[in-house]
Amino acid sequence: MVVTEERRKKDEQGEMERIRRSLQHEENRRKILEQRELQRLELGIKAELSKNNQSLAQKTMQPLTEELMRRLAIDRVRVFSSDDVGYQSGFGTKNYWSKLGFQVTGIPIGFLVRDRMVYSIYDRWSLVAKKANMTVKQLKKKLLKKYKTEELLFANALRIANRLQKVNRISIFYEIINKWIQANQSKLTDGKLVRHEKNECFCCGGTGMLLYEIEYKECDACCGSGSTRNQRLYEHNFNIDGHDFCFHSYIEPDKLSAEEGDDIVEWRAFSKDDLPLPPQQLLLELLKGSKKHMMLLLVAYGMKMLSIPLIS
Ligand SMILES: [Zn+2]
Repeated sequence: MVVTEERRKKDEQGEMERIRRSLQHEENRRKILEQRELQRLELGIKAELSKNNQSLAQKTMQPLTEELMRRLAIDRVRVFSSDDVGYQSGFGTKNYWSKLGFQVTGIPIGFLVRDRMVYSIYDRWSLVAKKANMTVKQLKKKLLKKYKTEELLFANALRIANRLQKVNRISIFYEIINKWIQANQSKLTDGKLVRHEKNECFCCGGTGMLLYEIEYKECDACCGSGSTRNQRLYEHNFNIDGHDFCFHSYIEPDKLSAEEGDDIVEWRAFSKDDLPLPPQQLLLELLKGSKKHMMLLLVAYGMKMLSIPLIS
């Protein structure tokens, strides 16, 4: 008798659970449909916006009239302030991107209002590299005139190319910068730890152990450590011919201070003196050509470390 009563209760609970799940399922479905409808509406708005923007965007710069302000408000166009734009955030005017060596294509994504004027703003996805109007050799000559020494020329080219990575990432750059950092450790003034990057292993969920057929064993993906990515990011501060340079790298610096490094110190705005920049690809070509220069530095540094006199 008792058993039957218990079973009845259990069945009832099971049925209730089934209904609850079904309701939940229905609720989730409704939410998804609502989201889709919202997305559809947003897309509709965007399409409408681009039509209006096209007429607005024909001018890259125009005065902020009452009428324009009304149109921007009605269209809910994204309006930027001067603080929101720059290569660091990936937003800029046509003129700004041009100074950084890029052309813009497509429609602007919003407008910058400054001194009662309205400027079209393009994000980094609408950029196309400008064609270089000089050769690597010509660029080198030009930069050498500006920075006086070859050391300073490469350090500055690296500083500029490093910032441009935030706009358009080109993977060969990391090989170049790491080589430069290694070759210039003798000019390191200070090294700091910025952060320890760890990612929980996706396979074992960070436990380091995984069930293989019938028994738990050390996880293959992370070798039992529980994290797949385990690296330290450092700040390297250099003094090159009397000028300070700061770069970030996973290479451990020769000198390490107890102080913590800054995560954003590298991403300063370009100075007026830097602009206009040479095209990114040309800068990388120039830096690739500095391999011999870096090899010599590396050899000299290695010899110093091994206490081999350069001149015997
Ligand atoms: Zn694992």
